[in-house]
Amino acid sequence: MTFAKKILITTESREIFIIRNGGTEIFTDHCSGCATDVELLTLEAAVLLSGIAVREIVRLAETGEIHFRETASGHLYVCRRSLCRDVHTGVAR
Ligand SMILES: [Zn+2]
Repeated sequence: MTFAKKILITTESREIFIIRNGGTEIFTDHCSGCATDVELLTLEAAVLLSGIAVREIVRLAETGEIHFRETASGHLYVCRRSLCRDVHTGVAR
């Protein structure tokens, strides 16, 4: 009597889309704060999009009011979803 073995192999892949618009970069990746894929913005793009000053964005990131990712090279990327939410009321802008 012979037995057949069935092997299931599952793979997962991710794609990152980088959009360059006037020197600013936006890309999509997973945000652990939102627990979903979101647009991540460079600091420059975050300032242009929100109208919030760089210093304030850095403060909001440090206090956890907006989500961010810092690369090994020191670049800060801001979660657009958390940035576009009113940081004081939690309501989407
Ligand atoms: Zn987020």
